[in-house]
Amino acid sequence: AAKQRTEGPVVYDAAMDKSSAKSLSLLTELRHAAERDEFRLYVQPKISLETGKVVGMESLVRWVHPERGNVFPDEFIPFAEQTGFIRILTRWVLEKSAELCRELTSRGHHLKVSVNLSTRDLLDQDLPAKFADLLTRYKLTSGSFCLEITESAIMDDPVRAQHTLERLSAMGLDLSIDDFGTGYSSLAYLKRLPVNELKIDKSFVLNMENDVGDTKIVRSTIDLGHNMGLRVVAEGIESEAVWRLLADLGCDQGQGYFMSRPIPADQLFGWLEKWRA
Ligand code: C2E
Ligand code: CA
Ligand code: CA
Ligand code: CA
Repeated sequence: AAKQRTEGPVVYDAAMDKSSAKSLSLLTELRHAAERDEFRLYVQPKISLETGKVVGMESLVRWVHPERGNVFPDEFIPFAEQTGFIRILTRWVLEKSAELCRELTSRGHHLKVSVNLSTRDLLDQDLPAKFADLLTRYKLTSGSFCLEITESAIMDDPVRAQHTLERLSAMGLDLSIDDFGTGYSSLAYLKRLPVNELKIDKSFVLNMENDVGDTKIVRSTIDLGHNMGLRVVAEGIESEAVWRLLADLGCDQGQGYFMSRPIPADQLFGWLEKWRA
């Protein structure tokens, strides 16, 4: 059976039936992980490709399992989404991200934090109220947050997703379409949704200096985004050559191992000190 990915459509998978006992125990493990405080917030800096300055960071969750070590999100986020556990996880990520933002602000860094939301989060009618509460408690402005949403998360229930996104956008939160180009890519959504940012999927970026096809796709996506008045971000920048190429194409911001791998949130301050733009 095909490997299920967070950004992929949720399809019936025969192998999953056989392993339903396994997923049930995974759900139990996830609950224990929350109780035992085994989740860790990692962040990856987001850089202006023109100036080299840090403009924000993306929150990425890790699970530090006592026996298995670092478990990557691809291994448990799909389960978390299927079972609804994702809401607990998202709450945790939002809380930690707000805490980090507060800390950054008090140290004079005004960085936007990007958080990944899943389908289930978008179907939560209380999400705007939860954000309002979070901003108040941490004394943050809505401009401190960018919400990354995949196309497939929107496609799951477009009407409700649009409703939630409009409410979040009206509050002043930035919205980003994540993994752009890999989903159903219904361009109509770009027109209808209150989007601020397009994030080009790393599959087009990783090897773009050697692949004319990738370069064409990236160039067209940047132009499309800019024509629609959106900020364009590239993920998966692993070399200076790719940074240069993207900067030449006018891509606004980027993330990637060339600048920094995702790092534990408490290491961000040290990283910011060392990063010379
Ligand atoms: P994503 O949102 O597309 O995140 C980008 C992924 O690309 C991250 O993987 C990041 O570590 C990786 N990456 C960044 N730069 C490079 C690079 O230069 N080269 C390569 N090869 N990879 C790079 P990660 O952290 O393993 O996360 C995988 C996915 O899991 C994320 O994809 C996102 O869909 C999901 N995820 C992670 N944290 C959360 C979360 O808190 N909530 C939700 N709903 N999903 C999350
Ligand atoms: Ca993302
Ligand atoms: Ca992405
Ligand atoms: Ca991805």
